[in-house]
Amino acid sequence: MNRLNDYEPVIGMEIHAELHTRSKMFCSCAVTDTTVAEPNTTICPVCTGLPGAMPVINREAVEQAIMVGLALNCRINAFTTFARKNYFYPDLPKGYQISQYDFPIAAEGWVDVVDENGAAHHIRVRRAHLEEDTAKLFHVYEPAAADYTLIDFNRCGVPLLEIVSEPDMHSVAAVHAYATKIREILRYLGVNSGDMEKGVLRFEANVSVRPRGSDTLGTRTEIKNLNSFRALTLATAYEIERQIAIIEAGGEVVQETLGWDALRNVTFSQRSKEQAHDYRYFPEPDLPPLSIARPWVDEVAAALPELPDAKHARFVADYGLTPQDARILVGERAVADYFERAVRAYNGTPSAVSKWLIGELFYLMNRERVAIEAVRVRPEALARLIGLVDAGTLNQNSAKAVLGEMFATGGLPEAIVEAKGLAQISDNDQLSAIVARVVADNAEQVAAYLAGKDSVFQWLMGQVMRATRGRAAPDVARQLLTAALNVRR
Ligand code: ADP
Ligand code: MG
Ligand code: ZN
Repeated sequence: MNRLNDYEPVIGMEIHAELHTRSKMFCSCAVTDTTVAEPNTTICPVCTGLPGAMPVINREAVEQAIMVGLALNCRINAFTTFARKNYFYPDLPKGYQISQYDFPIAAEGWVDVVDENGAAHHIRVRRAHLEEDTAKLFHVYEPAAADYTLIDFNRCGVPLLEIVSEPDMHSVAAVHAYATKIREILRYLGVNSGDMEKGVLRFEANVSVRPRGSDTLGTRTEIKNLNSFRALTLATAYEIERQIAIIEAGGEVVQETLGWDALRNVTFSQRSKEQAHDYRYFPEPDLPPLSIARPWVDEVAAALPELPDAKHARFVADYGLTPQDARILVGERAVADYFERAVRAYNGTPSAVSKWLIGELFYLMNRERVAIEAVRVRPEALARLIGLVDAGTLNQNSAKAVLGEMFATGGLPEAIVEAKGLAQISDNDQLSAIVARVVADNAEQVAAYLAGKDSVFQWLMGQVMRATRGRAAPDVARQLLTAALNVRR
């Protein structure tokens, strides 16, 4: 019995993204990389929650929230307010978080995604609202002494944008595609690095299941603090199966908040799910309502960069790329920019550039763990290298070797070809002499070939390549070798 097919998973996501502003959400402390900055160095009475300290709204954070809202096809609300969300936790010194409740900055948007199986999904975005991040706790377990916890307030008050989807995802693949798309958009807008190891982007998945064909929602659980795509997809898949097993056994899913144990690959109960009224939301008395005038929104809209979907369509239409290649290139804005600069410097079809970039350069980047920003091969230099192949100066293999050298040293292709003597040999006389020597030196193999063992031809070609240290123009060498063998028939 395939019980998984009798149920439809229903998933809604909450994504928390720290914003890349200069100062914090409600004070003038700098936003620092909390994984490297000395703890508790960018703090003040406001972000450490001292009584009487007054918050001030960060304009840059609001602007970035508007950018994201627009990119997610949301309505930007002209009237927004901040609210106090009351709860106690040691990382929240005020005893409440300033967030938004009734009147978020952005609402009712959507994104379209295509998952890894090629299936399209339309996912509605319920809202995107601004809030502040909490401090960071470090639990220290001392084998021989009492355990203790350290607290770093540098992160406390960092602007956080919470993006809440409708429960529109029905597979793990859709969840992965949606999370990937949101990350991609945030990175395009330059408002978040997408650096999940640093915790600047965190996922929560709300999961329920229902009998296929039903249109009522089942009871959901909420999996908190998923800090990687791996955790997101594994936890979601696990939770779908767990809930189906409960229902199949005649039980009922309990609405609760879950954690993800990444060592044992299971979800575990953290607490029963709190309801909105548990937080006693009320309007933040220290902040006035914020009105966002239409001209401001228009200004932000006009300054938005080209977004991934638009770029994808343009790459396919203007450069004749396959949708798959275009997808790979637009995944990161810096890669797309690199590609376009190389195309501009190159006199040939853009797909040749995409082939070298996706094939060889990505291979080197992966192998050496170098990001596109740090690659020493300038786009113009890559274009010139491909030009050398087109002109017959380099064969494919030599060109790959030259690219490896360019990658390691930042050198220019022409200089490397010169210094290493890698220029292709396509001169007939020179190659004829080499072919003649290979034929003479390998009488046994030549006899085997002439007796009908065709595969020996490739071996003989290999000898020609070896004799020229890989520099023979393959087409010319093949012709000459064929001719030299045929006269012996
Ligand atoms: P809360 O803010 O208390 O976590 P919300 O009702 O605002 O709850 O929903 C939070 C997220 O949970 C949203 O992304 C929403 O789409 C999702 N969600 C709500 N109900 C369900 C459900 N039955 N199954 C799956 N996801 C759900
Ligand atoms: Mg929630
Ligand atoms: Zn501060």
